[in-house]
Amino acid sequence: MKKLRKVDTMKRKKQRKDAQKALERKAASLLNHPKECCICGLQFERTKETVKTWQIIIREERVRLTCPNCWGTISEVLKNSNVKNS
Ligand SMILES: [Zn+2]
Repeated sequence: MKKLRKVDTMKRKKQRKDAQKALERKAASLLNHPKECCICGLQFERTKETVKTWQIIIREERVRLTCPNCWGTISEVLKNSNVKNS
């Protein structure tokens, strides 16, 4: 019985460890967002201004960072394609 209980504890410990690892991975992926524009490669510097103007797009667990310039281009293209489609 003593042996069985020990195995049980180890299993529980492993489960807890796995959950912890999954959480760490999730946190890492959030922290590990790009440090530059995904289009022109402009370096992102975290300031009050850039946080407001840069666009962070999260799609299918991929984080993309877009500088205001490129974001302007993208929304322009989107606007145009919307006009074309309608
Ligand atoms: Zn850019």
